[in-house]
Amino acid sequence: MYLRRLTTFLFALLFAALCSGANGSKPKLVVGIIIDQFRYDYLTRFRNDYHGGLDQLLTQGADFTNAFYAQVPTVTAVGHSIFLSGAMPSVSGIVGNAWYDREEGNLVTSVCDWNVKTVGGHDAGETTKCTDASPASPKRMLVSTIGDELRNAHEESKVIGISLKARAAVLPSGHRAAGAYWFDDVTGSFVSSTFYMDQLPGWAKSFNERELPAKYVEQKWEGFPNWSFAAPESKAPYSKIPASPWGNELVEQFTEEAVNGERLGQRGATDLLTVSFSSNDYVGHAVGPDAPEVRDMSIRTDQLLGKLFRLLDQKVGLKNVIIVLSADHGVTSTPARDKETKMPGGYVSVDAAKIVNDALTSRFGSADWIVPGVKPVFISIAPRLAMLRPLNTTFIALRRTRYWRINGFTSRASTRESSWRTASPVISSRSL
Ligand SMILES: [Zn+2]
Repeated sequence: MYLRRLTTFLFALLFAALCSGANGSKPKLVVGIIIDQFRYDYLTRFRNDYHGGLDQLLTQGADFTNAFYAQVPTVTAVGHSIFLSGAMPSVSGIVGNAWYDREEGNLVTSVCDWNVKTVGGHDAGETTKCTDASPASPKRMLVSTIGDELRNAHEESKVIGISLKARAAVLPSGHRAAGAYWFDDVTGSFVSSTFYMDQLPGWAKSFNERELPAKYVEQKWEGFPNWSFAAPESKAPYSKIPASPWGNELVEQFTEEAVNGERLGQRGATDLLTVSFSSNDYVGHAVGPDAPEVRDMSIRTDQLLGKLFRLLDQKVGLKNVIIVLSADHGVTSTPARDKETKMPGGYVSVDAAKIVNDALTSRFGSADWIVPGVKPVFISIAPRLAMLRPLNTTFIALRRTRYWRINGFTSRASTRESSWRTASPVISSRSL
């Protein structure tokens, strides 16, 4: 059970240039790094295999072993929005990777924005549905980031965000970034948004013209012959790159080009670079945290960070750089593994939305109670019905019924009022 609690555990490693602190000078560059789904124990389990960037951080930096975020749910968008804003989802408005937006009357993703266009990639065409390929901006994030405040204080500072996932590039870098860049699995290019720019800068175009993903889809993963990265014809050509070691390699190489092309930390101002490595998460989802692939990905990430730090040392001097590293969330072991090791766990095989719908119908009569949502993470009650019916009473009624206890899958039920009492003092209506 202890391992399950680690799901919500985040950690931070801080490598601060002591001499820059000692003489009072400002850092030239701050680098915020997130490794997606990098559970804290990956630092200790594989410690002897780290000789690169993680080793540098662990030996020369500060390791914050009790750095918890108190949020639910522990998913990528929420973790990334908290990392450099400090704001919990009830405050930031980033309450999931996707949610039902009552104003728009639709399911939206954390960074989907129809008022902007993707720059440098393929045009997905007009659609009303938000997907991970939709045009993106930070408009749904209701708070500022460190990068935003840095630019508010120093207009000349530059902020850049990079990841495979749009949300992981956009949310940590914030509203005033010069650019956020992410991976388009149709073209294999790093793309951005008209929110930041009208066209990609020359260095990003040059990187895309090298067409590195075309080489990577053919590459074998040494030691793991069952993995292949060429996508079937029905899928986007580079859709299997994120769940591979090559996804992180692309991010690291693109980051090097950004440091060079934007002259980050080399311009007489304090710049901020956020980099999120997503492939650890994609691979972790495919095989679970106990698989040897996860160890291999961790070791490769350590080496990639070492490579990036060497470039930073060469271009900026590590004594002038502050590096902060965190995960966005952890992961639980797979139910199959739990069964194998005789640990408690398993799949919930009930349709929770149907159970809630049936309970509401039996209590208040027939209606389309449940809004199509992100099952099974959220179950939303239709907003118009919510206004018409005494929902708080409803939830109390539900709590008292057998519906909450079916198969024992519900551990806690809260009313709207109890959430108000126990949650953060500032609660947006979106979180309820
Ligand atoms: Zn994540």
